[in-house]
Amino acid sequence: MEKRSIQFYWLLILIPAIIISTAAFRLIYHEQERINTLESAAVEERTRAIADTLQVTVQAVEDQLARAMQEIPEAQLNTTLLDWEENNPLVRNVFIWSENQGLIYPEKGLASISEERNFIARFDGLFSGRIKWPYKNPDSDDNRSGSSNSGLLKDVQSLSNSRKELLEIAKTETTASYRNDLDSLNKEPSKSGWIPWFAENKLYILGWVNRGENKPVYGVELELMTLLSRLINSFPEIPSGASGYALVDDSGRMLHQVGNIDSLKDSTPELSISLAPHLPHWSLAVYTAAASGSNNSFMILACLLLVIFIAAIASGGFLLMRHAKQNMLDAQQKTSFVSNVSHELKTPLTSIRMFAELLMEGRVKDKEKTSKYLGIIVTESRRLTRLVNNVLDFGRLEQENKKYHFEDIDAAAFLKETVEFHSPRIKDAEMECVIDIPDEEIKIKTDRDALEQVILNLIDNAVKYAAAGKEILISMKQGTADIEIRVEDRGPGIPEAHRKKIFEKFHRVDDTLTSKTQGSGLGLSIAKKMINATGGDIYYEQRQGGGSSFVVKLPLR
Ligand code: ADP
Repeated sequence: MEKRSIQFYWLLILIPAIIISTAAFRLIYHEQERINTLESAAVEERTRAIADTLQVTVQAVEDQLARAMQEIPEAQLNTTLLDWEENNPLVRNVFIWSENQGLIYPEKGLASISEERNFIARFDGLFSGRIKWPYKNPDSDDNRSGSSNSGLLKDVQSLSNSRKELLEIAKTETTASYRNDLDSLNKEPSKSGWIPWFAENKLYILGWVNRGENKPVYGVELELMTLLSRLINSFPEIPSGASGYALVDDSGRMLHQVGNIDSLKDSTPELSISLAPHLPHWSLAVYTAAASGSNNSFMILACLLLVIFIAAIASGGFLLMRHAKQNMLDAQQKTSFVSNVSHELKTPLTSIRMFAELLMEGRVKDKEKTSKYLGIIVTESRRLTRLVNNVLDFGRLEQENKKYHFEDIDAAAFLKETVEFHSPRIKDAEMECVIDIPDEEIKIKTDRDALEQVILNLIDNAVKYAAAGKEILISMKQGTADIEIRVEDRGPGIPEAHRKKIFEKFHRVDDTLTSKTQGSGLGLSIAKKMINATGGDIYYEQRQGGGSSFVVKLPLR
């Protein structure tokens, strides 16, 4: 009943703890999800901002070049363009084209440099007139054209309004400022624009200017490597929330990367934002640790704390339960100890009183009977003394204030005397006492009273539990470093499972023999403590041919 109520209390703590833990786990899970969503949104926002900055940078470069192209005086067009081709790092190639003459510069047939030949081949569609120049389409808003423009513009439309505004401001500011200048230079304002061009799946950017209906179209091809070096400056130094960014070109090549993304390169990026319309088919890819599954540290930590919490409650409950169980056992043992000791004291006291009263009333006239009764009184009072000594010793040993008085003794003579003194008890139990003790002196240093108490307890047990075996053998042997005292009987012996436990306090073998015999379960535990304290050992061995054999080992002096 007691044990059940302890388990019930434990469950009372454990069940709410499990419920709280489950709820906490769910909360943590949702919180982690919320954090992840917020983090991805923040990363996306930051990435879009960087993408916009890149576009603005390209726009600024383009506007700057377009403005410079428009400012070239007509008379110096050829020389300026050639000079740019030579010296301007942003310019890869230059051209002059007219509707009537076709390509004026570089001249098709005479073009000697391979770069120029490739340039002409790249833009052959435009230069041959197969594809119409965008200045033909006055409706075009920013004069930006190209085969993939319409699809790419859709991407831009999906950008948020704020970013659109940013781009618009960047564009109108630069355009407006140079337009005003140009107006003062030319009566007829020029048209200009940029064409993202794909040749062999590679992006090229061509800028053009047209000053009027019958005037030639001239322009430059952007040097993308120089443009790239300007874009690199627009990347943040240390990306926050992301492991890294990468600028990826149309063939999926990483042109530039920021942050530690070497290990993540092969995985799909968390987000990829197109850089159209300025750099169609180029994109800004962002890699995060979360995408590679290592950003769940919050969740892992929370789970770990939960596990520790449950484990602490479970183990705390377990320990409490064990403690309570031990307390219960102790209480039970103490109760049975008190009743056992009282019982043991009562038996000799009853016989002492009975025979003393008989003698006192003078009812026993027979001298022989008188001395027999007196003998019983003496034996029983000795038994009482032994019992009281055991209880007192137990108390002292438990409180660890038992004092030992070591002295040199002749172990052989001492054992003979002790057995001699207690032989009447053995005889009373109708047992034969066999003694095998050497005649010569065997010197040991020990506490005489403690050793006597141990031998008495062993003889007492043999008389109590093995009287039916009719024999008790008390022997002593001298070894090289110690002596061995054996107290052996032909009783029932001790079952395997109890052979060590009998030396624990209050332990009694749970059999019919023990239940019929009085005892407190203290004798052997006291013997073990005392022998160990005097530097020796005591243990049980099964006797050959049946019975018990208690072995006491003590060091020689
Ligand atoms: P007690 O004799 O008061 O019960 P002990 O500590 O002396 O306590 O002995 C512990 C138990 O060991 C006994 O209850 C008994 O079951 C068992 N025992 C001790 N000596 C013998 C023996 N010679 N033969 C059989 N059983 C024994």
